[in-house]
Amino acid sequence: MNNLREIAQKFNISEEFAVYENVEMARRFSFKVGGRTPLLIEPLTENALLKALNTLEAEKIPYFILGGGTNIVFSDTGYDGVVISTVKLNNIEEMPLNENKSSGDQVVLKCQCGTLMNTVVNFAVKNSLTGLEEFCGLPGTCGGAGYMNARCFNREISDVVGKITYFDKIPGKKDVSGGISEIPQFVRKTLEYDKTMWSYKISPFTGTDKVISSVEFRVKKTTDSGIQQRAASFMKERVEKGHFKFPCAGSVFKNNHAFGKPTGQIVDELGLKGQTIGGAQIAPWHGNIIINRDNATSKDIKALVEFVKEQVKSKTGFDLEEEILFY
Ligand SMILES: Cc1cc2nc3c(=O)[nH]c(=O)nc-3n(C[C@H](O)[C@H](O)[C@H](O)COP(=O)(O)OP(=O)(O)OC[C@H]3O[C@@H](n4cnc5c(N)ncnc54)[C@H](O)[C@@H]3O)c2cc1C
Repeated sequence: MNNLREIAQKFNISEEFAVYENVEMARRFSFKVGGRTPLLIEPLTENALLKALNTLEAEKIPYFILGGGTNIVFSDTGYDGVVISTVKLNNIEEMPLNENKSSGDQVVLKCQCGTLMNTVVNFAVKNSLTGLEEFCGLPGTCGGAGYMNARCFNREISDVVGKITYFDKIPGKKDVSGGISEIPQFVRKTLEYDKTMWSYKISPFTGTDKVISSVEFRVKKTTDSGIQQRAASFMKERVEKGHFKFPCAGSVFKNNHAFGKPTGQIVDELGLKGQTIGGAQIAPWHGNIIINRDNATSKDIKALVEFVKEQVKSKTGFDLEEEILFY
């Protein structure tokens, strides 16, 4: 891409970004697969994130937002555009629920989009704030969790979220000839929680151009000294379920009430656990986790996903839907 070098220089001379060129991306994903990207930038402030979005829109350069990279299978051939990583946006602020009136024991944690969910949980527990314990050990960032409406131990992000600040893309205006006379612009907006906009693994941000800049979590002050232990018990359960044994991206497929049982159980009952394609394997201990067992490629993972879908469709009639995202 011709003007990427110029763009890199533009971001580089600004002190608002960390800039990396020709980046080997695999280590930035929990699956540890994927090729290179010519340019990766890490905005240091929310305004810099906004500036990056508008610069890339103006230059018509493709980009995508990377949180913790824990739900993504990144292509072996890499990405011919700019990866914007939120990793440096990780401030947490404790605030009253309502700025003007007392809200008793209720407070909010305003977290920048790149803050790791686990860091938020630890912050809450340390400050005697309850409500987020189930998310202990959830890999990835607040922005990614908000986008995915992550769900842990029957608790979803939508159960705990308050206001979300985000950048919304306003399309360019059409001129008389039908062409676009103005370039699209991102503008800052806020969204108050509205339960009609959220559902199982779907948020108001899923599949849109909107970029989350911060998430407010509603929590409560508590004198219960057991919250630390409660949070630790969820982490322990993850470890015992083998989440961290091999590189992976958690559950591969969504669950579906219509199936009458969890997807992992369906895969298990078909005898598919342990099945391998290349270096990718269905975890021998969990039917809904694919692991990078031995130098897997994204192609191996994709092939294994397709294999499971075909097997499940032909033997049960169910159409599995991926939860992991292929980029
Ligand atoms: C071991 C393991 C266990 C897991 N367990 C669970 C679990 O229990 N429950 C669960 O729901 N998931 C689980 N996951 C999946 C994953 O951790 C979650 O989906 C997580 O919320 C993704 O966050 P992330 O920051 O890594 O997002 P990424 O993987 O970086 O991105 C996911 C999507 O979100 C978008 N995105 C990221 N940040 C933003 C932003 N600021 N604004 C707009 N879009 C953004 C990306 O563009 C991408 O489309 C697990 C994964 C692993 C590896």
